[in-house]
Amino acid sequence: MRVLGIETSCDETAVAFVETNPWSTDILAQVVSSQVALHRPYGGVVPEMATREHLRNLPLLVPQVMKEVNLPLDAIEAVAATEGPGLASSLLIGHSYARALAIALSKPMVGVNHLEGHLYSPFIANRRAVEFPFVGLIASGGHTLLVHALGWDRYVKLGSTVDDAAGEAFDKVAKLVGLPYPGGPEIEKMAAKGNPEAFGLPRSFPERDNLNFSFSGLKTAVRFFFEKSQQMQADQQWTYDLCASFQKAVVDVLVRKSIQAVAQSRVERLAVSGGVLCNGFLRGELEFACYEAGIDLIVAEPAFCTDNAGMIAGAAAEKLAAGVKPRVGDDINPNLDLFAPELEGDFARSMTTALKLKNRQVKKGLKQDDTISPGEVEVW
Ligand code: ADP
Ligand code: MG
Repeated sequence: MRVLGIETSCDETAVAFVETNPWSTDILAQVVSSQVALHRPYGGVVPEMATREHLRNLPLLVPQVMKEVNLPLDAIEAVAATEGPGLASSLLIGHSYARALAIALSKPMVGVNHLEGHLYSPFIANRRAVEFPFVGLIASGGHTLLVHALGWDRYVKLGSTVDDAAGEAFDKVAKLVGLPYPGGPEIEKMAAKGNPEAFGLPRSFPERDNLNFSFSGLKTAVRFFFEKSQQMQADQQWTYDLCASFQKAVVDVLVRKSIQAVAQSRVERLAVSGGVLCNGFLRGELEFACYEAGIDLIVAEPAFCTDNAGMIAGAAAEKLAAGVKPRVGDDINPNLDLFAPELEGDFARSMTTALKLKNRQVKKGLKQDDTISPGEVEVW
């Protein structure tokens, strides 16, 4: 299956061409035109400018990708585009372009959920066909999510942020200490020269069974230290230490909750992606923790962590190849949901039953290992 994919959910115009094989999905070509430099002076994405850039770039990038794969347009078997969530005006450009192309070629047009693309992206980068079930961590500028992925279109939310996303926290702290947007890579560079134990910064929701995140308290704590210590701001080492302590606080929480989510979901794999996963310290800490816990960690390559079209084309191609009914790309939905509400109830009930059974058996003095048989609690 050969699929052309288009991603324009925010400030990246991306196009990719993929081909599925029985064992993997290969990216034959992919281009990303980033608008970071354009939006940098404003400290964030300006939707109106992003829309105009997509409109300008897309008609140039699609022919560029087709030239790279050296195939005629009618080699495309399906056109995929991000349907949501994202900025409405940005989504509309990629989606409309994809629809027009699909109509002109008389090929199907498939709408893909941007978050499903992110969940799938670690598998492309590692050239592995997607293997369910797994726990997915998405940490980006707009999302911080832990998901139990049971199968295509069968996702259960395990935890999410109650305020800022992890990437957003990096961006806001960077702005506070005078670093440019996007802040994640800048903080990482500063943190590499600092002591991560220098400042005692808070970790959100320390309870073991709470898989939600909160980063606004951490951001406020950094602001407190920064604004109270004006004479220290001139000392570069002090700022390096503050950045290192902040980065460690975010990484600690992401790693601890991901490992906990895998344990609670009783799966073997953790697949991680999103812009924050470009962070080398986070990647290293996750590798170490997963090695210790015996978890199969699948990390997206940096080029597939941030927004890209390979993940959109790849998810669409694998779904089509697996015979999953694709979403017919009729319209965009800026608030598109990833989760199946009917599954959530069943899953939550099954987890509660599992925990109750486990507690009862521990009380009876049984060994933790021979607790509940999967059949007693499995609902899928
Ligand atoms: P979104 O699609 O939600 O805008 P992306 O997946 O494109 O997010 O990721 C962008 C986010 O990732 C930004 O918030 C940026 O600061 C963060 N980021 C990128 N590189 C790093 C890094 N090395 N360390 C921490 N955060 C990073
Ligand atoms: Mg994204």
